[in-house]
Parts: sequence; structure tokens; C-alpha cells
Amino acid sequence: MALINKLPSTSTTTSIPSIKIKSLTFKQVFTIHCTSNSQKASPFTEKHSIERYQRDNWLYNNQQQHQPSSSSCPVPDNQEFVRDYDIALQLPELRKLLDVLREKREIGNGFGEKGPGNVFLVGTGPGDPDLLTIKALRVIEGADLLLYDRLVSNEVLDLVGPNARLLYVGKTAGYHSRTQEEIHQLLLSFAEAGANVVRLKGGDPLVFGRGGEEMDFLQQQGIEVKVIPGITAASGIAAELGIPLTHRGVANSVRFLTGHSRKGGTDPLFVAENAADPDSTLVVYMGLSTLPSLASKLMYHGLPDDTPCAAIERGTTPQQRIVFAELKNLSDEIASHQLVSPTLIIIGKVVALSPLWPHSVNETSTLVEFR
Ligand code: SAH
Repeated sequence: MALINKLPSTSTTTSIPSIKIKSLTFKQVFTIHCTSNSQKASPFTEKHSIERYQRDNWLYNNQQQHQPSSSSCPVPDNQEFVRDYDIALQLPELRKLLDVLREKREIGNGFGEKGPGNVFLVGTGPGDPDLLTIKALRVIEGADLLLYDRLVSNEVLDLVGPNARLLYVGKTAGYHSRTQEEIHQLLLSFAEAGANVVRLKGGDPLVFGRGGEEMDFLQQQGIEVKVIPGITAASGIAAELGIPLTHRGVANSVRFLTGHSRKGGTDPLFVAENAADPDSTLVVYMGLSTLPSLASKLMYHGLPDDTPCAAIERGTTPQQRIVFAELKNLSDEIASHQLVSPTLIIIGKVVALSPLWPHSVNETSTLVEFR
């Protein structure tokens, strides 16, 4: 087994790392750990999410004053008001912000004076802020209100303008997590109040990002939605590892799969015989929990058990960790290295084209450290 410690090549760090290579005795798999000189906390850990949640202080400052109680807060009978009221009930602090926005709109010195504001669905890429598009950067810098979740890295959030409001809508253990319906309602309420609302999504908003659902809902309510694409995890991470997702004579197609199980069980939603194609690359999103079942099915349906694979945790961030393994060993190796979400899995012969793939998985492998 070998460990490779490196900073992502796309890191914002200015110093160029030097490379040290050692040979190690090794069995069939090796892992790459990527650590940062700055020892920053992960942009994706739960702990960090809580910090983010708490950093949205403006919300909590207002919470006490506006906490409705069953006796003091009768349900309004006006139908239009009910939706806002529902949000206000769950997130009372937002009520005040909505009122401020509407007030500003009425007196004409705030956000859009007429009609609703815009909603931008913005892809922020897999984590490295250098992978943002210029268009995304412009929209982020000019936003009034930004809703974001766990996959949006702190480096990206640091680009948000000083007067913008940030609202965490991801899931965090121990805190209220917004349902998809609540997020829809939040976007709608703020857009109706005239704000330019930015919904930040990791990677590309339209690749396993539920961006289509948000777009659909808002458009049905008459709100204009603009989508700014982002670099999806597959592209960003493949580039980081030097894996061509397609390659002449090796892989003539690439397929993005969700590992999510329809019923929350261990069976992946897709995949069976038609995904077990040795000439195609499979990229599995959200695949950690269903991987054992997916791998067995792929092998059962004819994908060779020595197919090269990579599992990449927190790709393109300074905390990136990579496990390389053959398909038959992948699940065990991921488990033994305790990879956690977000992890992307790439399965296919193209993985062996990565300069990081060990030349001989049976004898020795390589330890590379970037300094
Ligand atoms: N819209 C996103 C995907 C969201 S689904 C995109 O286009 O990339 C969430 C899954 O994406 C995660 O479970 C993981 O499989 C993958 N993912 C996203 N960012 C990642 C990252 N930086 N490192 C590893 N996997 C990532």
C-alpha cells in the first residue's frame, strides 16, 4: 500500500510543490492522501457545516425576537400569506428579511422595483474555487441572497460580496435541515420580494443536483431562472487525476450514474447488465453505500474483476484522498480507508492511464509527496 500526499494542482496556493517519490512494498491497492500545508478543516465535514451554519449570524440575531408561539401567532387566513407564514413558522428570522426586502422594493431604493427578482442556479464546481466559471463569479459577487449547501466549499463562499446574505440550506446533523420543498418556497419567496437570489450548487446544478426540480417549480410560479453551469465532479476530478474519461481505443463512452438507492436500501438505482461495458467509463456519484452491490452486479454481468477503479474523497480540495484498486477489491479498500462523502467513484480502463496509477499493482507502488 502506498500513500500519496499532494496538493491539488489547481489549488489556490501560490507555491509550486516539489515531488518526492519513494518505492514501497505494496499489495494490490494504494491510497493517496492529500493534505494541505495550511491544515485547514475540510470544506465538506459536518463540523464545518455547523460552523457555516453558525456563521450566518444575522439569522440567529433575529430569531429570538421573531420566534412565534402557538398563542401569539394565529394562522393567517389570506392564502398568499400562508406560504410565507409557513416559512416564517419554521424559520422565523427569515420573515424579517422578507419584510425588509419588500419594504425596500416599495420605497424604490432596494432590489428590483417592479416584478420579481431573478433566481440563478449556479454551479460552483467540485470545490477548488479556481474551477468556477467567470460567469458564476460575477453572479456570486453581485448577489443579494445566496442559498448554499454542503458541497459548496468555503473558498467559494469567501468570494461572496460583503453585503450579501448567506443562508445554509444543507443537511447538518443536529440542526434543522431544509426539505426540498422548503428550499423551493424560500427561493420563491425571496424572488417574489424582488431579490436576486443565487442558489449555489456543488459541481454542475443539472448533474444530480436537483436543479431541474427547482427550475421547474420556479418557472411554474412565473419566476425566471437562469442556470450557470459548473464543472461537474467527474470532469474536475478526472482532470485532477489525469484520467481521460474517454480515450480512443480504451473507452468510447462515459456514463454518469447515481449510486443512490431508490428506497434507501443497498441496491443502486441503476446499473445492471447494460452498464457492465468494458469499453465504457462509469462515474458513480453518491455511490459509497451501494458500491458493494454495484460492484458485484457489474462483475456478474461481465465487467472484468481487475477493471481499474479510483475512489476520490473531497476531490480538487486540499483534503483530497484517493483510493486506487481493481474492481474486485474496491469496496474493501474504500471501507478500510474509511472514505466518507463526498466521494466519487470512477470505474474503467481509463483509470490506469492516470500517472498516479501504480504500474504494477502486485509488487511495488509509489509514495509521492508534494511539498
Ligand atoms: N451536482 C454535483 C453532484 C451532486 S451529487 C456535480 O455536478 O458534481 C453529490 C455527489 O457528487 C457526491 O456524493 C459525490 O459522489 C460527488 N461529488 C461532488 N463533489 C465532489 C468532490 N469534490 N469530491 C468527490 N465527490 C464529489
